[in-house]
Amino acid sequence: MQGDHLETVCGCVVGGAGPAGMGLLFNALKSGAMPELAKEGLIIVDASPTPGTGRLGDYRITANSVGDVFLDCLRDPALRDVFEPLEHSPAYWRIRRQAQSAPQLADVAELLAEASKLVLDFIVERYGVKLWSSTTITEIVREGDEYQVWVESDGRSRRIRSRAVVLNLGGWQDPQHLLDSLADQGLAVPPSAQIQSADALLRMNAVQLRHLFARTLAAKGRVCVVGGSHSAFSVLENLADALEFAGLEEVTLVHRSPIRLFYETAQAAHDAGYVFDAARDVCPVSGRVNRSGGLRYRALDVGREALSKGQIGKTGVRVQLLQTHQGPADQFERARQALAEADIVVQCTGYQPLLPGLSHAGGEAITLMEVKGGLDSDPSGCPLDASGQRLHGLHLFGLGAGLGVDPRLGSEASFDGRIYGVWQFHHDASGVVIDSVLTRLQTPAIQPVAAAPRLVSSRSEERLPFLWPVLVNAQS
Ligand SMILES: Cc1cc2nc3c(=O)[nH]c(=O)nc-3n(C[C@H](O)[C@H](O)[C@H](O)COP(=O)(O)OP(=O)(O)OC[C@H]3O[C@@H](n4cnc5c(N)ncnc54)[C@H](O)[C@@H]3O)c2cc1C
Repeated sequence: MQGDHLETVCGCVVGGAGPAGMGLLFNALKSGAMPELAKEGLIIVDASPTPGTGRLGDYRITANSVGDVFLDCLRDPALRDVFEPLEHSPAYWRIRRQAQSAPQLADVAELLAEASKLVLDFIVERYGVKLWSSTTITEIVREGDEYQVWVESDGRSRRIRSRAVVLNLGGWQDPQHLLDSLADQGLAVPPSAQIQSADALLRMNAVQLRHLFARTLAAKGRVCVVGGSHSAFSVLENLADALEFAGLEEVTLVHRSPIRLFYETAQAAHDAGYVFDAARDVCPVSGRVNRSGGLRYRALDVGREALSKGQIGKTGVRVQLLQTHQGPADQFERARQALAEADIVVQCTGYQPLLPGLSHAGGEAITLMEVKGGLDSDPSGCPLDASGQRLHGLHLFGLGAGLGVDPRLGSEASFDGRIYGVWQFHHDASGVVIDSVLTRLQTPAIQPVAAAPRLVSSRSEERLPFLWPVLVNAQS
């Protein structure tokens, strides 16, 4: 690595060390790729003073997998010495005791935080990796065959020049996406209604939820939840638990397609009386029903209860489920009316990636192409810009970006979203990214066409707004 305090040159930047970025680092260590990845300099940049777990532990819900799935991310002979201190960690033993049940995400995050710290300390010491914590990526400029990553810390701006950038800064829920997807179906939310993101509500405790919903409940206003995924059923349960005795009697859940339930086998689904499409809902590799898109664990229990009894969990709060596409005859009209009368609409319809400003060296903005559930990227998370040009050397696969289904690993044909989750981050998803980054680092760089340079010093003096509008909105 070379450079001074204002500009640094390295082979790879890992931007964002939440579960996705850390998954890549764990995997590089397990697979023996770390020395190669760090050879020309590896800089990890994260806005948090304690990188490692991102937002996962902030959600006040249970995981959508059993504890063993998270332990499997730590289980590898190459990591045995690094993780030895975990033998004495209460967080580790708490997850071990829940190896076959779904733990609270706060407990998962505690374990991942400890494991991440051990990995980060190790790679800094052993491979000379640089960890820039409390440092925010504000802008990325593509110049020729490399990227300029602008970062800010303690009010000071500096630049990293790098051939590869792995960028997983988390996701946010853009209310305009909700409005657009409802409009596509001929549905609308009145201007008087508040749109709340599931992401924000799932991070609130009961007192905060009661405060937020107080006016609506006092006025007997209508609450609509839009979406049919894990988040939607987690929101139903958290609202019912927190607000039942504050006056919440009923919630309306508006969902586009049928609520999908996960079963280990087609036989188990038949035995439970669950109706599914044997050709489209069963994964040909694993034989599981709704493997990628089905509700699991606690969300599955809440979903089953809602479908069979119209109740939320153990509470007395009722839920009306209204399917807007190819559902029973009157449900579209009832959904339209429910949304039109809504006081609060909770958005549970997926995430968009949090991105810094992206541009070409000449100043032209780069917009990444989206598909349902994330970004339009290749199997290594390399995205396309709006003109269909692939942005070689840039990789995104975390929340809001995701990856397409890998046919070798399988999924159900009816699932058309993107795949993301902690286990994938630590295994297949990051594995392809590591291979792609290493291949790039081994290939000589194409010399950039000279473009008018934007000097680091002039950047500081101009006092440009360092947060791109999306970032500002998402953090408010
Ligand atoms: C409600 C909910 C429940 C979920 N439950 C599960 C589950 O049970 N099991 C599972 O496997 N997956 C689950 N997921 C999916 C996924 O694993 C998590 O969302 C996970 O937190 C995503 O990790 P990430 O690294 O992409 O993003 P984040 O967790 O958001 O981490 C982003 C990181 O980037 C950093 N950052 C942000 N902005 C900047 C910037 N400008 N500059 C530098 N650094 C920055 C942050 O400090 C953070 O460390 C869930 C997701 C949601 C939304």
